[in-house]
Amino acid sequence: MINRVLNFNAGPSALALPVLRRAQKDLLNFGNEGMSVMEMGHRSRAFSRILESAETRLRRIMALSDDYAVLFLSGGASYQFAMAPLNFYRMHHPVNLVHTGYWTLKAAKEIEKLGELKIIASGEADQFKKLPKLTPDLIDPEASYLHYCSNNTIYGTQWNQFIRQKNTPTIVDMSSDFLSRKIDFHQFDLIYAGAQKNVAIAGMSVAVIRKDFAKNTPPNIPSVFRYQNHIEAQGLYNTPPTFAIYMSDLVFEWIEDQGGLEGLEKKNQSKAKLLYDYIDESDFYHGVAESSSRSKMNVLFRIRDGDESLEHRFVSEAESAGILGLKGHRHTGGLRASLYNAIELQAVAQLVDFMKSFAKKF
Ligand SMILES: *Cc1c(COP(=O)(O)O)cnc(C)c1O
Repeated sequence: MINRVLNFNAGPSALALPVLRRAQKDLLNFGNEGMSVMEMGHRSRAFSRILESAETRLRRIMALSDDYAVLFLSGGASYQFAMAPLNFYRMHHPVNLVHTGYWTLKAAKEIEKLGELKIIASGEADQFKKLPKLTPDLIDPEASYLHYCSNNTIYGTQWNQFIRQKNTPTIVDMSSDFLSRKIDFHQFDLIYAGAQKNVAIAGMSVAVIRKDFAKNTPPNIPSVFRYQNHIEAQGLYNTPPTFAIYMSDLVFEWIEDQGGLEGLEKKNQSKAKLLYDYIDESDFYHGVAESSSRSKMNVLFRIRDGDESLEHRFVSEAESAGILGLKGHRHTGGLRASLYNAIELQAVAQLVDFMKSFAKKF
């Protein structure tokens, strides 16, 4: 029996055991190539097959039309914060942004370096515990684009519905809930996600982009940051993050075995319900995000009214019990359990048991 902890880290985060086992099995000699994926040429036949398989599986999982290109790009979502406005900001057409906390602020700062930004809705007055009210009339039809973050990893809020304007392109940072539920991905023009949360390992972003949209980009931006260059080079504009792509392919295969996004959505709903139901019935713990805005991926909670010394003790006793990653982000404090795709319902049940026995002591 291998000694693995329960890993509720926010990212990088847990990977499914079958994925790790497969990577371990392939490590020294992938598919009889006599070498690992890390050692292969990115233009070799063996690697081309991996890249093609990852793309094909992802397209199938997302039910994606041929109007979209799939890119596996170096660097996490922060690179995309810079890359999106470089490609899509148009002079005197302010980017419209829905501000839901830390990550949208980071995106906003990159936009402001290039041009104008308009925050059309903000959760700041509610300390980002609640998603702001958004109606289509708030969106400027002349905006360069509309920027959203679908799931706010740090504040534990998540959009269930995306308000849009049909003339305004929509860009969404899906880093922490990509592939966690069934949604119509065609409502977006660019979707990006850092891979270390729900896809694979750190160092890569997945970008899914409408081909027509990508064409409209200025040719004079740095080449490696231009989506169209990556599309034209079919993902081999430069050496892509080969091992991360290989890991994604394994994760995508695992997702298909889980019943695709429908299967994962059901599983993720049960996991979140189990934890939130317990938090709600308990007098000792309370949830942070307002119930209508709650994320199924990142569950934020506090002990009593934010008793930091008890929370500190909670984290350290959990660690001793082999339950890791429960400390909240440094910006919010408190506690957080991240329930990404690879977390099993059984792990959440064990967390709830631990929470119950901890609460009983007081
Ligand atoms: C983690 C995260 C990011 C940043 O990802 P990096 O890979 O660290 O650049 C951006 N947006 C959201 C929503 C995230 O959860």
